Amino acid sequence: MTQEDLFKNLIAHAKEYGFIFPSSEIYDGLGAVYDYGQLGVELKNNIKRYWWDAMVRLHDNIVGIDSAIFMHPRIWEASGHVGAFNDPLIDNKDSKKRYRADVLLEEYVAKIEEKIEKEVEKGRKKFGEAFDEVQFRATNPNVLRNAQKAEEVRARMAAALNANDLADMRQLIIDCEIACPVSGSRNWTEVRQFNLMFSTQMGSVSEEANVIYLRPETAQGIFVNFLNVQKTGRMKIPFGIAQIGKAFRNEIVARQFIFRMREFEQMEMQFFVRPGEEMKWYEYWKEARLRWHKSLGLGDAKYRFHNHEKLAHYANAAADIEFEFPFGFKELEGIHSRTDFDLRRHQQFSGKRLQFFDPETNESYVPYVVETSIGLDRTILAVLSAAYAEEKLESGEERVVMRIPAVLAPIKLAVLPLVKKDGLPEKAREIMNELKFDFNCQYDEKDSIGKRYRRQDAIGTPYCITIDHQSLEDNCVTIRERDSMQQERVPIATLRTIVDDLVSWRKWLSKIQ
Ligand code: ATP
Repeated sequence: MTQEDLFKNLIAHAKEYGFIFPSSEIYDGLGAVYDYGQLGVELKNNIKRYWWDAMVRLHDNIVGIDSAIFMHPRIWEASGHVGAFNDPLIDNKDSKKRYRADVLLEEYVAKIEEKIEKEVEKGRKKFGEAFDEVQFRATNPNVLRNAQKAEEVRARMAAALNANDLADMRQLIIDCEIACPVSGSRNWTEVRQFNLMFSTQMGSVSEEANVIYLRPETAQGIFVNFLNVQKTGRMKIPFGIAQIGKAFRNEIVARQFIFRMREFEQMEMQFFVRPGEEMKWYEYWKEARLRWHKSLGLGDAKYRFHNHEKLAHYANAAADIEFEFPFGFKELEGIHSRTDFDLRRHQQFSGKRLQFFDPETNESYVPYVVETSIGLDRTILAVLSAAYAEEKLESGEERVVMRIPAVLAPIKLAVLPLVKKDGLPEKAREIMNELKFDFNCQYDEKDSIGKRYRRQDAIGTPYCITIDHQSLEDNCVTIRERDSMQQERVPIATLRTIVDDLVSWRKWLSKIQ
C-alpha cells in the first residue's frame, strides 16, 4: 500500500473511531478546521500533559501561564505581525488555484532530493557490499548535478525572500518550469504578500469599534507578561514561561488534514537568558526537545533537524524538528533564538521598561529569548500516523492496530466480561470501579471477545482484561497486551501494578532527563 493510501485510511479511521471529525460536518465542513472527538480529546489532553510536565514540572525554573486570545492590537504592531506576517502567494490563471510561492519551490527542491536518494539506492544495489556511499555522493555526476541544482534554487529563494523580492520569486518558479498540479500549466500571476491574521471587532457597533486580532501565536501573551511572572514568581534568569493555547492563521494552502489548520493549538515555551548566552541555550533546547520527541518511541529515524537559511525578522538562529509524516519530512516544532527583539519592541511600543536586574552582574538588561514552539495538532498527527498499522495475523485474519505510546493512549484498560450473565458483568464493574481512579478504563460487553479485542486494538488500548467464570472463584483474569497480543492469567490484585508499569507518567517522563 502506498503512503498516500495509508494516509487516507488513517483519516477515515480517525473519524470512524471518534478521534477527529471535520468541523461543521453536517453543513459540509469548514475548510481546514477540525473537531476532536471523544478519543481525540483524551489523546490531546495526554500530549498536553506530557509536554507540560516535561517543561513545567521537571524544570524548577520554568512556570506556566494561560493568557487570553484577545490582546491589545498594538501588540501585533510591536511584534511585526501587522507588517510582516505574510505569505507570498501566487495564483495559477488556468486552474484559479492559489499557492504559496515558497511551498511550490520547496516541493520542487524536495523532488530533486528524492531523485538524488533514488540514484544512491541504485548505486547501492549495483555495487552491493563494495558500495561506498560517501564516495558515491561526492563523485556520481547525476547526484552532483542535482545537488547543485537544489542548492541553487534554495539559495535563490532564500535571497528573494530575505530581500522581499517577489518578482524574483515568480521568475524562479518560471525558471524552474514549475507547473500547477491541477491545470498542468505555467500560467502564473504575480506573487503577492497576504497577511495571515484573522481580525474582528471589539465593542458594540455604536461605540468606536476597535479592530482586534485572533492571536496567530501564543508567544506574545508570554512576552507581555514577562515582568508580571518574573516579579510575582521571583524568577531569576535563566528562566522560562510555558503556555498551551489556541492560535489562528488564515492559511492559504490548508490541506493535509490536521497538519495545517486555520485554528490550531500551540505549546510554546519562551526561555529568558543573559544576552550573549543565547546560542548556548539554543543548542541546549534543540537537544532537549529532540530527546522529548524520541522518548515517545515513534522511531528515532523519523526525526531530523532542518536549520533555517531564511531567518524570521526576530531571529538570529532557527531550526525545525521535522517529522516523517506520511507525506514526507515536515516541520513539527520550531526552536528559535529570538534575540531581545520582542521585549525590546514591547518596551518601545508600550513605553514600559521590560528589563531584568541581574544581581550577579549588577546590571539591568532586556533578556534574550530562546523559544521552543510545537504544534499540538501536528504532534497528534505524528503520533497517529506512526501508530497506525494494518496487520495480517498468523491466523490469516487482519487487524488495524494503533500502537499509540501507552502513556498517551486515550483508554489504558478495557474491561471485558466474557458473557453478559452469571455475575460476570457485576465482577467486571467491580474491578473497573476500583481501577478507574488510576486509569481511563472502558467497559465493553457487546459482541464476541475477538471483536472486542479488535475494537480496542483499533483505538490503541494497551491492555484488555477478560473476566470469565473462573474469575469468580480464583479472583484472576486474563490480561492481553495490544502489540504482542500475548495473554496471561493474573490475580486481580496485581492489575494496578501491571498496567501502571506500562503507562505511568513517572516511567515515561524519567526517560527524558
Ligand atoms: P509552517 O512553515 O509549516 O507554516 P511555521 O514555521 O509558520 O510553520 P511557527 O510559526 O514556527 O510555524 O509555529 C510553530 C509551530 O506551530 C509549528 O512548528 C507547527 O507545529 C505549528 N503550526 C504552525 N502553523 C500551523 C497550522 N496552520 N496548523 C497546525 N499547526 C501549525
